[in-house]
Amino acid sequence: MLRLLGGADLSIARLFEGHVNAIALVCRYGTPSQAERLAEDVAGGALSAVWGADDASGLKVVGDGAHTRLEGRKILASGAGFVTRPLVAAKSGDRQFMFLLRLATDHPVDLGGWTAQGMRSSATGTVELTGTSVGEAEAIGGADDFTRQPFFSGGAWRFCAAHLGAMERLVELYRDHLNSRGRGDDPYQLQRVAGCVAAVRTARFWVEEAARRFGDDEAGGEAIVGFANMTRMVTERCALDVIEAVQRGVGLAAFIRPSPLERIGRDLSTYLRQPAPDRAMSEAARAWLQSRTAVGEF
Ligand SMILES: Cc1cc2nc3c(=O)[nH]c(=O)nc-3n(C[C@H](O)[C@H](O)[C@H](O)COP(=O)(O)OP(=O)(O)OC[C@H]3O[C@@H](n4cnc5c(N)ncnc54)[C@H](O)[C@@H]3O)c2cc1C
Repeated sequence: MLRLLGGADLSIARLFEGHVNAIALVCRYGTPSQAERLAEDVAGGALSAVWGADDASGLKVVGDGAHTRLEGRKILASGAGFVTRPLVAAKSGDRQFMFLLRLATDHPVDLGGWTAQGMRSSATGTVELTGTSVGEAEAIGGADDFTRQPFFSGGAWRFCAAHLGAMERLVELYRDHLNSRGRGDDPYQLQRVAGCVAAVRTARFWVEEAARRFGDDEAGGEAIVGFANMTRMVTERCALDVIEAVQRGVGLAAFIRPSPLERIGRDLSTYLRQPAPDRAMSEAARAWLQSRTAVGEF
């Protein structure tokens, strides 16, 4: 699903990814009645999301008992203005907690700062949450469940799947372009086409295996996290190679609206920017160095 949505529209894929991530977290760490209430809202059309990113002050839990509330805001929150059941991460001291909120449809959001090159229609913005009451009903799981492994890093396969779908679409549009212009016999174009097909297929093998491990109860936590981190690195490299090859192979037409090549290139370049890619790559390398696993089994 994520791959197919990524091929159609990466902003929709981003919203869907956040929605299913929130539902998975509520199912994993929430109570059955919290999951049921969310399911009812979703059946009624509500959209969820995971809003984790913070500004320098961060979102905090303040007060206690019946007066516990949030102080601060969330930044880079996708679906701002559309999502009514977001799952937010907030700090109490140095521990992090999750709260599943219920926002009014007219809850104020600020999309003014979302001037990114791509992913414009993901409605990624800032949401002020100061004063929002939170209690047992909203709290999902316990301290630091949000970043509990292997689920936190292992779930990276989901955005990689969306990126993969966009890559596939770029390469198919490149084929259409070459065939319609009668440029498919050119050896340089053929070399680029071969590289693109190999890059897309490589990414797909990695993403499928990362997803398979994530869903495999027998797979060890380290194997899931290490593989997901490597998958991030491979998918990003493949996507950057595909974007470059398609833009060089199509030329200026790939930069002119309303060509889908223009939109997908812009959206994919933006959405590829995920948190701490260097750390993901180096942690995977370190995990393998410190293991005795045969490289072909890592
Ligand atoms: C379209 C879109 C929608 C999004 N929606 C949401 C959302 O709904 N909810 C949400 O929580 N977030 C969302 N985000 C934010 C996303 O999860 C990441 O926080 C964001 O994309 C991080 O990008 P960055 O390039 O600034 O990352 P960084 O982690 O700042 O990485 C930038 C560079 O700095 C390096 N780096 C990182 N840390 C260090 C360090 N300590 N020292 C030195 N170098 C470092 C990295 O390896 C990389 O090279 C969204 C992002 C996008 C693009």
